[in-house]
Amino acid sequence: MKTFADLGVESKIINGIEELGFSKPMPVQEAVIPHLLAINPRDLITLAQTGTGKTAAFGIPLIQNSKGKPKFVKHLILSPTRELCLQIADDLRDFSKFKDEVKITAVFGGSSIDKQILNLKNGAHIVVATPGRLVDLQNRGKIDLSKIETVVLDEADEMLNMGFREELDEIIKNTPKERTTLLFSATMPNEVLEISKRYLKNPEEITIGGRNVGAENVSHEVVLVHARDRYLALKRIVDFHPEIYGIVFCRTRNETQDIAEKLIKDSYNADSLHGDLSQAQRNAVMNKFRIKHLKLLVATDVAARGLDVDDLTHVINYNLPDELEIYTHRSGRTGRAGKFGSSIVISNLREKNKISDIEKQLGKKFKFTEVPSGKEICTKQLFHLIDRMEKVTVDHTQIDSFLPEITKKLEWLDREELIKKFVSLEFNRFLDYYKNLPDLGKPDKKDRSKRREQFDGDMTRFFINLGKKDNLKPTDIIGIIKDNLSFKEIGIGDIDIKETFSFFEIESDYQEELLKNVNTKNFRSRKISLEVASKRKNDRQSSGSRNRNPRNENRFSKRKKSGKDSESQFKPAKRKLRRKK
Ligand code: ADP
Ligand code: MG
Repeated sequence: MKTFADLGVESKIINGIEELGFSKPMPVQEAVIPHLLAINPRDLITLAQTGTGKTAAFGIPLIQNSKGKPKFVKHLILSPTRELCLQIADDLRDFSKFKDEVKITAVFGGSSIDKQILNLKNGAHIVVATPGRLVDLQNRGKIDLSKIETVVLDEADEMLNMGFREELDEIIKNTPKERTTLLFSATMPNEVLEISKRYLKNPEEITIGGRNVGAENVSHEVVLVHARDRYLALKRIVDFHPEIYGIVFCRTRNETQDIAEKLIKDSYNADSLHGDLSQAQRNAVMNKFRIKHLKLLVATDVAARGLDVDDLTHVINYNLPDELEIYTHRSGRTGRAGKFGSSIVISNLREKNKISDIEKQLGKKFKFTEVPSGKEICTKQLFHLIDRMEKVTVDHTQIDSFLPEITKKLEWLDREELIKKFVSLEFNRFLDYYKNLPDLGKPDKKDRSKRREQFDGDMTRFFINLGKKDNLKPTDIIGIIKDNLSFKEIGIGDIDIKETFSFFEIESDYQEELLKNVNTKNFRSRKISLEVASKRKNDRQSSGSRNRNPRNENRFSKRKKSGKDSESQFKPAKRKLRRKK
């Protein structure tokens, strides 16, 4: 087994990474570090799953190759999101703690450009950048890429997904031809292959742990439900895992916000992370999640990309991603650093084909499970409670003085009765909530005809200026909807065709896109005019059940008073809070 010293890493850096607890190199580091430390290294494509230690693999040699006063930027790391930029820059600063002449600076959107310009002016060996902001700085003449020796494209697949292709062109054409280019990616779709052909010369290719293979320590489960029961299923899954610490992935910002709000109302420790939040809000949420003050982070894929949290117990796919490769990324957030994790997909029948596509890609089978029944959840919670009771530390010096009085007061109760009462105190609310709730049924094929049942969330009702006199048929309306949306499998509700106009409903998430695209189009040479008629709340699951929710009525108010509830389930984080911002 090699050590970092065997790979040629200098002692100052070894001291830094030892403080982080890196005792031996991970496989991707064993491959990439000596490669980059060699004189005139070849270009390199590295395919490795998330959590395999890619940052240190390129970061350590770049730090070692940074010497003297930072007159020019020598190494450029491009990364798709602000969070990742900050994370990489932080990691690199940690690695170079005992080599503090190395200057690292991060430039990314959503934050003052003037401050970043100043940082660049003060000199940096290594710049970590999002493509958009870097192009901006280039256009203002604030960064000189002409002396660049190394370009790292981190999470290349995601940069392309986010549409940064032109920016990459714009950046790379300003770097010297003799540069070394490294591309890191968890997956290798064709676009990445194409990009690697454009920017890399005769690259060496390293694959760690097989292409597109899900992390080994992750179990994959599917829970089949009616689409309208998605949220209820989510709650049950969470209730069934009292120690859950995980990310709930949603497809859109709206959905992310909506689910997080519902969970918060129902008194779960949850919050959302998505692109509409300010940088300060995002940092606050992420820090709360890292120190486990939040147990559920509801996030979009982009927001959660690369988030470096090691001990997630669960990844929940509230909806499947539009692209299969994204599933690999999502599930790779758990099962990291030698721990086990589960990736759970909440799915309706319509998505079953997608599941088998993912199985093929992962080379792994999903376990089909049912939403836990109320009884199962109660049993699980009960044992969890008893377990906590058994393990709780008793502070004898404090409690003993009260004991005589307490004992006297409870004299009339025998042991069994006493246990029942204590347990009921904590547990009645759970029992009450679940006792009359039916189990969530498994959907069957018959349901597919019921179009309205196939989605959840809010619906928007549209008015359209076409009707029977235009010979308009429901299929025409469906055609108009699908032709004008990038995502095709959306929920379509009632279609009501009148004489000279019509109404139809679609999921509210797609309202803006549809309006924007349709209003410039014609239908059989008549100009289409579309307007929002009204919004219908799909409240089947919120109103009735919310009031009966034990967490809602009692737990929340109790927690507000005592502030203890979250702590009793979650031990204070032992891990040092690594992100300072
Ligand atoms: P990737 O970029 O491949 O998704 P990261 O570089 O974010 O992975 O690393 C994942 C986690 O592994 C981080 O928490 C990091 O600190 C840790 N790590 C990296 N290298 C080592 C090592 N050699 N020993 C122990 N932990 C490591
Ligand atoms: Mg990474």
